[in-house]
Amino acid sequence: MDFYSLFEIQEHEKEIVVMLNNWLPVGIIDGHLHCWQNHFGRTLINPSAKIPGATFNSFPWELHLWVMSGLFFRVRWSAVAIGSPGDFSANNNNNYIHKLSTTNHNILPVLLAERWNSSLFIERMLVRKFVALKMYPTRKQKSSLAAKITDVFPNEVLEAVNKNSSAIILHLPRDIFSGVGELMDLADKYRNIKFVIAHMGNIYCYRSDLRFVLREIKKRTNILLDTAMVADSQVVAEALRTLGPGRVIFGSDAPFGYLRGRYIDVGDKKSIFQSQIPFNWVAPNVHCLYKEEKKGFRMMYLNIILSIKDALNILDKQNNHEVKEQLFYLNAKNIFRR
Ligand SMILES: [Zn+2]
Repeated sequence: MDFYSLFEIQEHEKEIVVMLNNWLPVGIIDGHLHCWQNHFGRTLINPSAKIPGATFNSFPWELHLWVMSGLFFRVRWSAVAIGSPGDFSANNNNNYIHKLSTTNHNILPVLLAERWNSSLFIERMLVRKFVALKMYPTRKQKSSLAAKITDVFPNEVLEAVNKNSSAIILHLPRDIFSGVGELMDLADKYRNIKFVIAHMGNIYCYRSDLRFVLREIKKRTNILLDTAMVADSQVVAEALRTLGPGRVIFGSDAPFGYLRGRYIDVGDKKSIFQSQIPFNWVAPNVHCLYKEEKKGFRMMYLNIILSIKDALNILDKQNNHEVKEQLFYLNAKNIFRR
């Protein structure tokens, strides 16, 4: 597979890229991006990845810059940078990101912590080096019906973050529907923490009961949502309508946001990602089901921005510069800081 051709604009995307270059604000902060550098001797694509998060062995900052210069040449671009969600050393990830942020002021570095890190270590890192904290649910927690937020972010860690008034990027163990009760309690208990819920609470396809859960969330002003990998304009519109534009942050989940594909609702409140490229984690018997449509798949990065644009259109705010500025720049700037 020619790695670089993955990130070049395809014919059917050209018009959209031009249109978005004109529509986007001149300064953007991508509120959710992964960036890490691995040791030599590995290919950039991991041929045996079993999950999308393990697709790339490495994705250094220079590569992001290269992809972005092909997409949004008009935009001044910054990013809230998190290390690899794959199985690589958090320590190496953090050193790399922190070092980058000392020479690039357009990188806002996020600490990736592991379960055995002490709350004192996390607190020190947040004071000195990082703008937010991310911890991941284990694969077991993701599939467990009983997994709680405090299994991922233990209470002593949340206390340290609260003391420092930092943000956490929270990938819910399951989704916003099953996690909302605990989330509300934690947001009430730790009022200085900004809870940024990644992937809009893992809701990739619209559900009519979404408004009820959003109405609950509205009551805690320290809960925000990021749009990483969410390309359903109805989901985004519902969040903007209920929470207002001050509580939604544009995020792409790049480099995974550079993949071409779409989410489809498969019923039973589940959705799956269909990828243009048959990566190792794509089941061949499923991939052949959409072989005609896949040619028209766009980069998720474009789809995410388009869904925000469409959502603003639904709300009649498509050309409201202040709102665009909030979603693509100001909210992230205000939340992710030391
Ligand atoms: Zn992510």
